[in-house]
Amino acid sequence: MIRQMVAFSASFKHKIKEGKLFNIKSKINTIIRYTHLVCAKMDSSRYYDNPFEDYPNPTANALVNASANDINENYKERIGVKTKELLDRLEEKKNHWTHNDDNSMYTGSAGIAYMFYHYGKCFNEPAYIDKSVELLRICIDKFRHKREITFLTGVVGPLTMGAVVFHSQGYRDEAQNAISKVKTLSSLVLNESSDLPDELLYGRAGYLFALLFLNSHISPAPIEDELIKQVIALIIKSGNLYSASRKYKTPLMYMWHGTEYLGGAHGLAGILYLLLQAQQYLTRQQLEKDIKPALQFLKSIRYPSGNFPSSIGSNSDKLIHWCHGAPGMTMLFCLAYKIYQDESYLQIALQCGEVIWARGLLKKGLGICHGVAGNAYSFLSLYQQTKDIKHLYRACQFAEWCMDYGRHQTKSPDRPFSLFEGLAGTIYFLSDMQQPLSAKFPGYSI
Ligand SMILES: [Zn+2]
Repeated sequence: MIRQMVAFSASFKHKIKEGKLFNIKSKINTIIRYTHLVCAKMDSSRYYDNPFEDYPNPTANALVNASANDINENYKERIGVKTKELLDRLEEKKNHWTHNDDNSMYTGSAGIAYMFYHYGKCFNEPAYIDKSVELLRICIDKFRHKREITFLTGVVGPLTMGAVVFHSQGYRDEAQNAISKVKTLSSLVLNESSDLPDELLYGRAGYLFALLFLNSHISPAPIEDELIKQVIALIIKSGNLYSASRKYKTPLMYMWHGTEYLGGAHGLAGILYLLLQAQQYLTRQQLEKDIKPALQFLKSIRYPSGNFPSSIGSNSDKLIHWCHGAPGMTMLFCLAYKIYQDESYLQIALQCGEVIWARGLLKKGLGICHGVAGNAYSFLSLYQQTKDIKHLYRACQFAEWCMDYGRHQTKSPDRPFSLFEGLAGTIYFLSDMQQPLSAKFPGYSI
């Protein structure tokens, strides 16, 4: 029954994304929410017990080199070999990469292009950059809904990635053309009377990611400060208005599809994380009077375990995913600590790490959105922030789990080769494991 409801809601979610059934969104959302609640309450075993001994232990030096504060070189080599094996496996399945002509970053061909580019750049393999160029051209050309504005689910994803990749390969006119198209879509993003949400996957924060990504990868920065500031101002205004209308004790709150989500993908944490990454464009007022109190609010509604609710009103301490729960929060609170130098933020992030170590080996899969690879990015984030090798060791153990690809998951993801649900995301993570200090969760960390 639950499986049927999940399939039903997933298929309708997809249609909502295509904009075909917009007028029945609220009914469908009720079903989706109900499904989530039923799943959360009935499924008491979403994760495998962590079989790994924690750090320190006598065999830890097979994975990490404490004196160099890095991965053990032999182990790094092993990850490299496994990564390439998985990449070959993915390439063999080219005809099964996507369905329904999905050209998005999240579940479509553009996400695979993103991974190819990353792999090609990390390991100096130009052939993969060429594959990325070829795929991105097709994605831009074939994207069906040319007015969708986010990096992860809209045409802005392949356009932004295309601009970066084309620019890096010397296709300057093509890059410029893609940048112009991204900028043109700002009129939709800045339309205050539209019902555009603010969250990362479908809303303004997802457009903000694209702008910041372009400026951090292309020099001179192609996006004017003024546009970025306007998008930020509107995200904050929208959060102020919604929060005031519901009388929340936070200046910022948002709703997506009838629910006040809190996590990385659809919720407050994802929006705050994007805003904080845009620190250089924020005013003191925005940093102190809007974002900081919203962080305090999030802090106040944690579960006793250290995990976070997926949405306001949820009392089910079950979801440990990047999209909902502690993993998306780890990255947010590490960055908040860096910016505000408030020790309590670091303690929250560290506590998230404990939750993920205990309950993060998910049965749901090995991907990055709601899988083990995504959860492992939390450890990399903690390692980058604290330089404590314990977190790198934990990331290595989660990588070890992921390298046994195909085992440890109770069912195949809906899009088994995609960047966010499937193999491409796991390969992206394993590539990042080989350079852990510069690892970045794709589509989330700039
Ligand atoms: Zn997810």
